[in-house]
Amino acid sequence: MCGIIGYIGRKPVERVLLTGLHRLEYRGYDSAGVATLNGSGGIHVRRVVGRVRDLERHLQQDPVPGTLGIAHTRWATHGRPSEINAHPHLDASGRLALVHNGIIENHDTIRTFLEGQGITFRSETDTEALVQLIGFLYEQTGDLVESVRRALRDVDGTYGIALLCRDAPETLIAARRGSPLLVGIGEDEYLVSSDGSAIIEHTSQVVYLQDGEIAVLGPAGLTITTTDAVPVEAEVSELEMTLEQIELAGFEHHMLKEIYEQPETLRDTMRGRIDAREGRVKLGGLVTCEREIARARRLLLAGCGTAWHAALVGEYLFEELARVPTEVEYASELRYRNPIIDEGTLALVISQSGETADTLAALREMKTKGATVLGVVNVVGSTIARETDAGVYLRVGPEIGVASTKAFTAQIAVLAMLAVDMGRRRHLSPWQTAEVLAELEAIPEKVEQALKLDEQVQDLARQLVDRDNWLYLGRGVNYPVALEGALKLKEISYIHAEGLPAAEMKHGPIALIDKGMPVVVVAPRDHMHDKIVSNIEEIRSRQGRVIAVTTEGDTRLRGLADAVLEVPATLPILSPLVTTIPLQLLAYHCARLRGHDVDKPRNLAKSVTVE
Ligand code: GLU
Repeated sequence: MCGIIGYIGRKPVERVLLTGLHRLEYRGYDSAGVATLNGSGGIHVRRVVGRVRDLERHLQQDPVPGTLGIAHTRWATHGRPSEINAHPHLDASGRLALVHNGIIENHDTIRTFLEGQGITFRSETDTEALVQLIGFLYEQTGDLVESVRRALRDVDGTYGIALLCRDAPETLIAARRGSPLLVGIGEDEYLVSSDGSAIIEHTSQVVYLQDGEIAVLGPAGLTITTTDAVPVEAEVSELEMTLEQIELAGFEHHMLKEIYEQPETLRDTMRGRIDAREGRVKLGGLVTCEREIARARRLLLAGCGTAWHAALVGEYLFEELARVPTEVEYASELRYRNPIIDEGTLALVISQSGETADTLAALREMKTKGATVLGVVNVVGSTIARETDAGVYLRVGPEIGVASTKAFTAQIAVLAMLAVDMGRRRHLSPWQTAEVLAELEAIPEKVEQALKLDEQVQDLARQLVDRDNWLYLGRGVNYPVALEGALKLKEISYIHAEGLPAAEMKHGPIALIDKGMPVVVVAPRDHMHDKIVSNIEEIRSRQGRVIAVTTEGDTRLRGLADAVLEVPATLPILSPLVTTIPLQLLAYHCARLRGHDVDKPRNLAKSVTVE
């Protein structure tokens, strides 16, 4: 779930591991630890509950030697965050140290078996079952790599692991199934990481491990085999990120930087993919599936969290622009629902990281049922990107803030391009297509305008930050924007917020409104504007405090709402791309004013690789 970094080479390993862990910090975690090897002198382990800086402080007092080591940030799934439960975990003999991302589902059975063999467990984690099992097999066979293979064949669940052994002081072992892991190839050195950002300052040459593969790294080079010992040819790729992209560039937080990057990231998402004059969309990643796209009679979209909200916006886009019936499912539900996939169904999964476990499972389920599945993914080379039949990359660069912002707008932009493309193949005329595309091309500039609301939003946040319950309302394509606004506020400021279709309010939630309750209403000028104005009146009658997001120049709301945030006009169907901006800023400023760690909100992880 969280982060792994491993190193073998000539540099003092402590520094490499710490810088790597700092780069992984954005993923959110509760404890951290390292284990290093110094020749045959034994394994040195340090673990702390808390942040990487706490581990760093600990290491200043009590450093670790060596040029080979592994490190971990943990997002607890089994056993509370404590020093004992933090990784690395050792086997009973103390010869092996292991870090693990993911969940060993049959840890109970393994533990019971090993306890029966006289092995004493120290932690409450599922991970310890794996390292103890490897240790047990190693004790019997004396063959380290074969013991790892056998243990991995025996475990159920997901893992990305890195392992070292006192008896093999020049070997680092890594393996994966369901959790991302890549091997970096430097000069006389190798790195292992769950995320490219942790190794980019050392090398950009990487090998993405595939599920069921084990890499053995050492002076003899890199060998990859499967868990059944079948040799695998390593395929070296270039990591597509720069150090600059993952640093703060003067912003106080990554989230704010990413909110401000959106005009640029949206330009990148659309660059070369739109020809407004010709009325054409060119999504290079989809050419292999042109037939399926042209013939689709039904779309099935799946995602989680923010990506699910983007999918909901997609539903409006596809139905309005392409007139293709569209359904949106939570990936986590779809995978267990026995979804109906018929011949005309085209599936599409959305995930920023491309590693979201629930989305991956939904993708596999739909493929089993014979669906063609397209992916909308940010991280190049990620598992979902590799397993989908075809796809479109977001091209927004690494998103470090746990609360997604620039990936959300890019996901909507990609869905809009695809909807226009599908519409053009069906009923949109060249000039109708050109009109939508020209508006889409103008969006980055409008987002730039919308960002100018920042100061006004800050003022508003100051006035409202002490309120503990908020509502977010929207209609039509701006209903998902309301959901996303509420989610952002919850995620980083821990304020309770609910998003609703505005008309639903009167069927229950209106009971919540009392004096001063903030109600954010996303109400750009469109065909439902009059209706939403009535909703605003209803809130006012109950003394709720209305913050309206509307279209520039909408004088009508100025007199009605307590605060009006005006965004530039665009086509109503594309309005989420601009209406969402002030809501991102609002959540950000509330969280900052409450003194929260905006980029690393409690209990959350950036890429959710567990179910
Ligand atoms: N399941 C393991 C634990 O709870 C690993 C969690 C992680 O991926 O950080 O310790």
